[in-house]
Amino acid sequence: MAQAQSPSTTPPEPTMVDGKFVPTRDVPFSEALDAMIAEVRAGNAPNLGRFCGYCYTPLEAGRRVCPTCDTSADDVPARDKISRTVAQAYTAKRKREGRYVHGAAWAGILLGTAVSTGLIVILPDWTKIFAIIFLIVGSYYIASYLGNVAIQDYAYRRGLRQFSAAWQDFLALRAQGATDEEEPPELDS
Ligand SMILES: [Zn+2]
Repeated sequence: MAQAQSPSTTPPEPTMVDGKFVPTRDVPFSEALDAMIAEVRAGNAPNLGRFCGYCYTPLEAGRRVCPTCDTSADDVPARDKISRTVAQAYTAKRKREGRYVHGAAWAGILLGTAVSTGLIVILPDWTKIFAIIFLIVGSYYIASYLGNVAIQDYAYRRGLRQFSAAWQDFLALRAQGATDEEEPPELDS
């Protein structure tokens, strides 16, 4: 943490164990905070609570150590509001994942259309009806497979990488005291 952050620094890779993301202090993405930000944005919850002073993971009552980044509330005092910059990083991650999923679903529809067009050309006479059936049913299944199954893992990893980069930017701003937090906490360990 002694080195100044330079924009060319590669953000840390998210830690994956058996294909599952494990939050670390370097990439402190919190599923609980992600869900809460979505609720706050939807207007279903207020931006209030008790959050880790380092990464903003929601802390249950009485909890002293953050489950995401292991920061103790004794070292960095807990906060009562989510930083806007951090919330934006979470929202940007969701948007990016959504773009991949939509892109994959559209690719599936185009693929299904291409295959059924081929079938119309190849199939003789009345059997062309199968091309139409494939266009309707096949495209749907290809699109939902690509959008829901095949791309999920990829989209999730890309989203985490984007979060990692956004978190680095946030840390750089925080080091300058340029975030919307009241006071930059001491983070040097
Ligand atoms: Zn934390």
